[in-house]
Amino acid sequence: MTKKKIPFCLSPICKIVKIELSSHTAMFSQMDNFLETDITYLKGVGPKKAELLKKELGIFTFGDMLYNFPYRYIDRSQFHKISGIDATNAYVQIRGKITSFRTEGAKYKKRLTARFADESGEIELVWFQGTNWVMKNYNVGVEYVIFGKPSLYNRTLCIAHPEIDLLTKYNEGTKSPFTPQYNTTEKLKVSYLNSKAIQVLVEKLLSLDNFSVEETLPEFLIESHKLMPLAKTLKILHFPDNMQELKHAEYRIKFEELFYIQLSILRLKTGRNKTIKGFVFEKVGEYFNDFYNKNLPFELTNAQKRVVREIRHDLGSGKQMNRLLQGDVGSGKTLVALMTMLLALDNGFQASLMAPTEILAQQHFQTLLKMLSGLDINIMLLTGSTKKKERELILSELKSGRLQILIGTHALIEDPVVFSNLGMVIIDEQHRFGVAQRAKLWKKSEQIPHVLVMTATPIPRTLAMTLYGDLDVSVIDEMPPGRRPIQTYHYRDTKRLAMIGFLRKQIDMGRQVYIVYPIIKESESLDLKDLQMGFDGMVQVFPAPDYNVICVHGKMKPADKENAMKTFKEGKAHILMATTVIEVGVDVPNATVMVIESAERFGLSQLHQLRGRVGRGGDQSYCILMSSHKLTNEARKRLETMVATNDGFEIAEADLKLRGPGDLEGTQQSGIPFNLKMANLARDGQILQFVRGVAEEILDKDPLLELPENAIFISQIKKLRAQNTDWSSIS
Ligand code: ADP
Ligand code: MG
Repeated sequence: MTKKKIPFCLSPICKIVKIELSSHTAMFSQMDNFLETDITYLKGVGPKKAELLKKELGIFTFGDMLYNFPYRYIDRSQFHKISGIDATNAYVQIRGKITSFRTEGAKYKKRLTARFADESGEIELVWFQGTNWVMKNYNVGVEYVIFGKPSLYNRTLCIAHPEIDLLTKYNEGTKSPFTPQYNTTEKLKVSYLNSKAIQVLVEKLLSLDNFSVEETLPEFLIESHKLMPLAKTLKILHFPDNMQELKHAEYRIKFEELFYIQLSILRLKTGRNKTIKGFVFEKVGEYFNDFYNKNLPFELTNAQKRVVREIRHDLGSGKQMNRLLQGDVGSGKTLVALMTMLLALDNGFQASLMAPTEILAQQHFQTLLKMLSGLDINIMLLTGSTKKKERELILSELKSGRLQILIGTHALIEDPVVFSNLGMVIIDEQHRFGVAQRAKLWKKSEQIPHVLVMTATPIPRTLAMTLYGDLDVSVIDEMPPGRRPIQTYHYRDTKRLAMIGFLRKQIDMGRQVYIVYPIIKESESLDLKDLQMGFDGMVQVFPAPDYNVICVHGKMKPADKENAMKTFKEGKAHILMATTVIEVGVDVPNATVMVIESAERFGLSQLHQLRGRVGRGGDQSYCILMSSHKLTNEARKRLETMVATNDGFEIAEADLKLRGPGDLEGTQQSGIPFNLKMANLARDGQILQFVRGVAEEILDKDPLLELPENAIFISQIKKLRAQNTDWSSIS
């Protein structure tokens, strides 16, 4: 075959075209994927506006623009009568004519006022900017439709900077009776990117000739669950025809968001089970039995027994255990952790226990040392403040395998800590330890150790299904016997004397007291001053030598902190005043009163954690929440919840409702895997539950999503991960 000769004249053109394309790669990819087109390619978005959209709203692409959903819609099928409007109306739409213009002030203080009338009355329209333009473009006597927020100015009702449409134009323009309202910022508004302007841009986008949206769910799901197709969904979410349709569109997005979270999490789990072999711990040996028979100071609760059985089942199964142990504060998780570690030792493996803070790690170390006394077990503590020499010793003992149990902070997984045969990792107070960090463990050794994650803060089911959805769950739902429910009171500051009187009584009965002050980073020095002043006051009320009041805070040297804690634990101090350093895990059974200062500044789960520090012995314990008189509604509800219930799960649910999941401690870092734009874990629990079932069904048939009809899931999960850096570090 002869080569076809390229006409001479074509080549330079080709070149030009090529240059054009390569300098406009986004334009090029527009053909591939409309949604990924850079926002600058939308008419009306110049470089300056694009910059702002990116900075202020995170809108980089057409897709971002379409997924920037309105936060509400205004029904514009209704007209108000002017006589019926007052300043309490949110937005109103009226139909009428301008009767006169009036200009007041000069230069920067210049403003333009128009009187606007319908058959029922008159209202003023006001402009502070662009007055010349308004004068030129709007005329007396013409029928307009006005839209805006009425307010009172100099006791006259007016609408500032209203939206104005010619009535004739308005009538032909009505596509959707609902006007979307978009979030904007001051910076955007100054650059004329208000809600209306964003609406116009979205309208433009939706009406582009090449508008195309690839479906992100497979046909079979869309059909079987009667979901709205994605392209239509995106249109409807900006310009719904009616509320029913809007709900349908919202459901589609929520379904999809939650479905992909569940699918990716569950696939992690099934994938792990398929590909990873776990160490098999066959026997219960001397370590476990010796401890159980000689050292166990009390009978296990039935719940503890059940959980240990569940764990033993995992360990013998050949699967790698990934288990979440949930149990309210004080339910006795540490004991379960210890017995689990002893099982590892019995089978010739090392075990490690990680705590979120140094104090807690120390505390665990002390507790375990005591519980293991008399048994020949090599156990050590490694934290940030471990001295170099000690550290070297630990590392070499660890590598040689002589060290059997290592206690430490989360730094254990970051550091170059090498075990000889790590078989069991226990993570305490998991709240700050999410999917991403856990994944680091998976990487730590060739064969992955069993993992037991313990969480003291009960989490609502919906959140648990998401954050820990890849874990099997065990629950300790029973407290050790003899515990009396803690009595909780809320005192305003004016009842401080009564509170002090109560403390005196308890102390004179031989009990100990915690007083906790809030600390937030931004005002740390101010907060510390509060603590200092409180301390000075308490020392006066409870003077030495009869009383000993001590103080612990985050700015102290670790050794001093440790000393203070020790003094308190040994019963040599009556009152321990502290910042939230004692938030988790501290165990002093003789402490019966927890006073929380400025309790309104704590979150619910924190309050519950703090309260859990008392009520650990047989004596009646108390929690006193001190607050100022002025409380926000939310703060009041939090304190009421605390007074009303001791049940951690009830508190967790209340917390989720009050704050929403995004704010819940730890969820940001520990990561709900993908961004949620529409779904809400607090409100959409039912959908979540449902789509988890859908995902399970799919994985049952195709555990690794290898079937061709499931390919779309893999590509979609990849895409979502790429959008979320935290999560992407896992794969
Ligand atoms: P948490 O679940 O908050 O970690 P801990 O493990 O610290 O709780 O246990 C709280 C207290 O209860 C500890 O003093 C512990 O010794 C005690 N405890 C644990 N299990 C039992 C039990 N079965 N019977 C009596 N006391 C127990
Ligand atoms: Mg604990």
